[in-house]
Amino acid sequence: MTMKVPFVNLQAQHEPLQAEINEAIASVFTKTNFILGEDVALFEQEFADYCAAPYAIGLDSGLSALKLALEAFNIGAGDEVIVPANTFIATAAAVTFVGARPVFVDIKPGTYNIDVSKIEAAITPKTRAILPVHLYGTPADMDEIMALASKHNLIVIEDACQAHGAYYRGRRVGSLGHAAAFSFYPAKNLGAAGDGGALVTSDERVMNHVKALRNCGQREKYVHVAAPYNHRLDTLHAAVLRIKLRHLDEWNAGRRQAAILYNRFLAGTPVVTPSTPPSVIPVWHLYVIRAEDRAGLQAHLQEQGIATGLHYPLPLHLQPYYQSLGYKRGDFPITEAYADQILSLPMFPELSEEQIAYVTDAVKAFEATRVAVG
Ligand SMILES: *Cc1c(COP(=O)(O)O)cnc(C)c1O
Repeated sequence: MTMKVPFVNLQAQHEPLQAEINEAIASVFTKTNFILGEDVALFEQEFADYCAAPYAIGLDSGLSALKLALEAFNIGAGDEVIVPANTFIATAAAVTFVGARPVFVDIKPGTYNIDVSKIEAAITPKTRAILPVHLYGTPADMDEIMALASKHNLIVIEDACQAHGAYYRGRRVGSLGHAAAFSFYPAKNLGAAGDGGALVTSDERVMNHVKALRNCGQREKYVHVAAPYNHRLDTLHAAVLRIKLRHLDEWNAGRRQAAILYNRFLAGTPVVTPSTPPSVIPVWHLYVIRAEDRAGLQAHLQEQGIATGLHYPLPLHLQPYYQSLGYKRGDFPITEAYADQILSLPMFPELSEEQIAYVTDAVKAFEATRVAVG
């Protein structure tokens, strides 16, 4: 018996909320307050409260949130920013776009997040900030990162684009660094009906500056005090996000349950399941295993109707776009080794135990044939 298991299932997420979402969208059309309407300010307050942080600013993407955060801290030409080599391109791109240089650091063996023990060697007199990523929904080692930052007088901007609602030592991500960037790309743990993002911070000056930057550099109408960008979150997205935010904790709990079942069903197999430090409660944006014959396993799962992903197959320091930075293969051995082994299995809140058993049985069947052949 074969079954189709999608990688994500946004229909399942939206179906029970569709009437409510339609009503909210209709209300925005009635008011025609499409730009910075009241839903934007209300969502900002609700999302800040959710993160236990004073301020959230609604933006048009996670990339914009990272970029405007760097800019608000006056990071630009001549500056260096420390970024993990294993992340989505946007983390480093934000650094490049403000004119600064991303300096990559390897990930910690057995994890997918930045190796704090390797950060200090990457710090130079030009270093201004550290940009840790809570990759796949698992918070980075923030206490150690904040201690290093304070020792070297650096800004810390969390890339929380995959980690809405995750906890680090009892505190929500978004409230741990000097500022934090979130993405509301539809497939993220909290997704809009298109692109969206937010910057979360406890710094009032940063909040005011980013609010000006997103809106044509204005503090008051037609007085442009900062770079006149347009990076606003649309009212329509804010209206949808307000409804979905109320379900985020229950969705994250669904993801957590799925991860528990994956871990249980894959225990004792040759694939490496994710490890979770006791200090964190992850939100499982992705469930990533490592397999020796990754390509073979991925092809086998596809034959069985199971969709998978690779996050990410080519580390940032080896990207053609970053060739000019002068890195080479061998610079970040853990990131490079894992990039060839990682495989993201289907992960979404509504994933059923039957689906998880089907996926893990297919993984086990493939690994069994490998052992038999080898
Ligand atoms: C999604 C994502 C971003 C960028 O978000 P966009 O909203 O797509 O611009 C940045 N960093 C990480 C780690 C992400 O997963």
